[in-house]
Amino acid sequence: MPIALYPGSFDPIHSGHIDIAERAARLFERVVVAVYDSPSSKRLLFSTEQRVELARATLQHLPTVEVIPYRGLTVEIAHQVGATALVRGLRATSDYEYEAQLALTNKALAPDIDTVMLITSLKYAYLSASILKEVAALGGDISRWAPPLVVEALLNSRRSD
Ligand code: ADP
Repeated sequence: MPIALYPGSFDPIHSGHIDIAERAARLFERVVVAVYDSPSSKRLLFSTEQRVELARATLQHLPTVEVIPYRGLTVEIAHQVGATALVRGLRATSDYEYEAQLALTNKALAPDIDTVMLITSLKYAYLSASILKEVAALGGDISRWAPPLVVEALLNSRRSD
């Protein structure tokens, strides 16, 4: 049974991500959620340690899922953990262009690794970490989109602003 790597910035992890991890856990023997350390193109709210901690805590009900931080090429970390698949979540068709570009690039870099894209569950189709952070920063109720621990972390980050 294959091992999958589920990479992302997870800033912070939310219900859309958790749903994809749960579904990937049913498809693969082991799923390694890889939290990208310092993506240059994104402004992050949480440190790598915080993002890993939140992901570990919210995925602990999945015994075959583990969470690690990583740097560098995604396909390199995939090789290191023995993954033959990369899992990505697809929301709107607007995600497709970027995800296809990423998948083709990773395929060129590592022909032995395939990208498996899972379509989001309808209730999370419009959810992104950036929207979640924005609603939280403005004091909106985000409890339907993130587990209590993540809601609390977002509230704390708002208080320390
Ligand atoms: P974002 O900042 O957009 O939430 P990440 O880089 O943390 O994204 O995303 C990691 C992976 O999770 C990506 O494949 C992304 O498409 C996917 N993802 C993000 N949000 C959702 C969602 N609401 N439903 C399904 N997949 C999602």
